[in-house]
Amino acid sequence: MSTQDNITIPAELLPRDGRFGAGPSKVRPEQIQAIVDASQSVMGTSHRQAPVKNLVAELQAGLKELFQAPDDYEVILGLGGATAFWDMATFGLIRSKAQHLEFGEFGGKFAKATTKAPFLEDSTVISAQPGSRPVPQAEPGVDVYAWPHNETSTGVCVPVERVQGADDDALILIDATSGAGGLPVDITNVDVYYFSPQKNFASDGGLWCALFSPAALARVDEIAHSGRWIPDFLNLKTAVDNSRKHQTYNTPALATLITMNEQVKWMNANGGLEFTTARTRESAEQIYHWAEASDVATPFVAEPEDRSQVIATIDFIDEIDAGHIASILRANGVVDVEPYRKLGRNQLRIATFVAIEPTDVAQILQCIDYVIDQIR
Ligand SMILES: *Cc1c(COP(=O)(O)O)cnc(C)c1O
Repeated sequence: MSTQDNITIPAELLPRDGRFGAGPSKVRPEQIQAIVDASQSVMGTSHRQAPVKNLVAELQAGLKELFQAPDDYEVILGLGGATAFWDMATFGLIRSKAQHLEFGEFGGKFAKATTKAPFLEDSTVISAQPGSRPVPQAEPGVDVYAWPHNETSTGVCVPVERVQGADDDALILIDATSGAGGLPVDITNVDVYYFSPQKNFASDGGLWCALFSPAALARVDEIAHSGRWIPDFLNLKTAVDNSRKHQTYNTPALATLITMNEQVKWMNANGGLEFTTARTRESAEQIYHWAEASDVATPFVAEPEDRSQVIATIDFIDEIDAGHIASILRANGVVDVEPYRKLGRNQLRIATFVAIEPTDVAQILQCIDYVIDQIR
């Protein structure tokens, strides 16, 4: 096996855009142009005045349209990304006990946050091996069920469904950071569908957005008035009040709002979730079909119905070093297909987010074939 990285992939095999990372992920040129177009009207202006508030209002309406949310669902946003939202939810959405599904890095992190909270009962954590998925189980006294829609660290997705037999007022909280916009969802099955913008929304990080059901909004009110101490920055009631005024508690990155709004407008103009999910399905199926036909690669996720259509994880046989493939690709401008660092497998992880062209996915597969031929 060759070890040199100076393999030049023929230009005709290269994708037009070489960004296949799981986030920050490919930003479409039209989104950058939107920043340029707003370079004097929005950039550099107050987030408490009409130009930015109108932009936030447009983004909120666009997300409601994209997810076909009922009228009484609200789009709430704040700063700090999904990671901050875990702490906010711990303080402001869980009354006494949560149940988490843990089958990779991200589901596990939220579970840790609630388990450490001294004012909550110990959380129930239902785990499964990375590459597979657990199933939530109705449990008396659990008032929040939480799992990621798409476990970005492994490429496993879990359907968003109500938990049969759960307590009447139990809420479903879904971390949709890498799934939202790229996976099908019936939003009436979830009370809080939250996500950061740097995945399917092809924007920068730092923000969280969430669709809240009326039951979730009522829970926020209930806990805010319960006397529990909540740090101001992590107070969901404050986020709800500000979002209703198309504002955030503190200063947001305006460029992120612009690029995200542009992506949501593009998604809606092309047919909404039907368009986006057909596109991600087409991209991901190419990768899984390629891996199934390959004699050196296999899909990491064994069960076809658990395989994500926004993150494809592909294992390689021992004789082929996936890290070596990733570094040759990187040297040729095709970047960020290294596996999730803590998973530690001989694997490539390829994002198939909405912004990524299915034709470019076909190209990266040709690149990988070419590299394998060269290093074998
Ligand atoms: C990326 C990701 C996160 C972390 O998002 P931040 O914006 O970095 O906080 C959380 N959950 C999932 C499922 C993710 O993919």
